[in-house]
Amino acid sequence: MTYSGVDYYRLEELLTEEERMVRDVARRFVEEEFLPRVQRCFREGSFPLDLVPRLGQLGFLGMTLPARYGCAGMNNIAYGLVSQELERGDSGLRSFASVQSSLVMYPIYTFGSEEQKGFWLPRLARAEAIGCFGLTEPDFGSNPAGLRTRAKKSAGGYVLNGTKRWITNGSIADVAVVWAKLEEDGRDTIRGFLVEKERHGFLRREIEGKFSFRASVTSELIFEDCWIPQENLLPGTTGLKSALMCLTQARYGIAWGAIGAAIACYECALEYAKSRVMFSRPIAGYQLVQAKLVWMLTEITKAQLLSFRLGKLKDGGQLRPEHVSMAKMNNVAIALQIARLARDILGANGITDDYPVIRHLLNLETVNTYEGTEDIHRLTIGRDITGLSAFE
Ligand SMILES: Cc1cc2nc3c(=O)[nH]c(=O)nc-3n(C[C@H](O)[C@H](O)[C@H](O)COP(=O)(O)OP(=O)(O)OC[C@H]3O[C@@H](n4cnc5c(N)ncnc54)[C@H](O)[C@@H]3O)c2cc1C
Repeated sequence: MTYSGVDYYRLEELLTEEERMVRDVARRFVEEEFLPRVQRCFREGSFPLDLVPRLGQLGFLGMTLPARYGCAGMNNIAYGLVSQELERGDSGLRSFASVQSSLVMYPIYTFGSEEQKGFWLPRLARAEAIGCFGLTEPDFGSNPAGLRTRAKKSAGGYVLNGTKRWITNGSIADVAVVWAKLEEDGRDTIRGFLVEKERHGFLRREIEGKFSFRASVTSELIFEDCWIPQENLLPGTTGLKSALMCLTQARYGIAWGAIGAAIACYECALEYAKSRVMFSRPIAGYQLVQAKLVWMLTEITKAQLLSFRLGKLKDGGQLRPEHVSMAKMNNVAIALQIARLARDILGANGITDDYPVIRHLLNLETVNTYEGTEDIHRLTIGRDITGLSAFE
């Protein structure tokens, strides 16, 4: 009997009924409502904003946060599986949910006042408000410690000045979580601030000319003497480590999401190889093509096992950021390589958007870079196992 599918090690048996159900809901949503539109969105360079309320209705925004804030209160395996299914559709779709959940709702939940939580979390969960996360700056990507955006204490609040770049959802967001340096007790500390879109001196500009993440909004945020009230400071933020805690959450979702993109490419390549006849038989019958397909499924299987264990560590409160680094680094790297091999198996057809492969391949170039490049995660793990930092 031939094996068909992408669950070679029967991971399905380790999932609870609820986890399987949530995953299947996400899969159906992507197949029925998202995939029919993604080709056009990617061509036009537009994000399907009208689908955002559906993400809220399905409980996919802030889904691990508690019900008292209008969230689904699910575990991290369910969250991972949903990320996988969303990215099986497109990295841009998964990114929307990741940013809203891990980079906006998580910091408000973890570092926010009770008023901030009560006001923003239910709205963000229902998708009545969209959020973005501004850490990266034009001159500070891998090294956010150097960021230049500044918050200065002023009557009743703070005045922000600076520029953030490469911000997902930036120009469609109702609220931005912005990381800025604040002078306190004679020294600079990085703190998180909430900035509503209406604030005077807060400008947003969409970044044009992207060949990756075309079905996603990426923006520049500019703050020019932008005043915000005292209560917009996220009171629990205590330095760069607060921002990095958010990134650990988001990277967890990326580790799972990348598997989704890899599965989409593998399935497409397998199907194509079985029906494409060249020389005397389907190309799937040639050893070189089989070697590629076997490598793909092996790496997908390993990535699934890594992510499943990662989820269990997270749910058990034993997760270290370095665990997430390994899964993000590995899973995105293999997804990118799988997308390249799939593109190769599709031959010339692989460069057209009649197939999802080239779109995933282009997207994965971003996924490899953002939320810590592959190199930066390698350095993070290197520091963890040697005790020596090789960053500077
Ligand atoms: C589509 C998209 C969406 C994004 N969304 C967001 C968002 O919502 N919010 C946000 O804050 N940011 C966002 N980012 C920014 C992203 O996180 C950064 O691009 C990323 O951190 C890398 O920074 P950089 O682009 O400045 O690259 P750089 O830091 O300049 O790195 C360039 C190269 O140098 C290497 N390098 C850097 N330092 C070292 C070192 N010490 N040793 C060895 N190699 C090194 C890197 O690995 C990389 O290969 C997004 C980016 C993209 C493309």
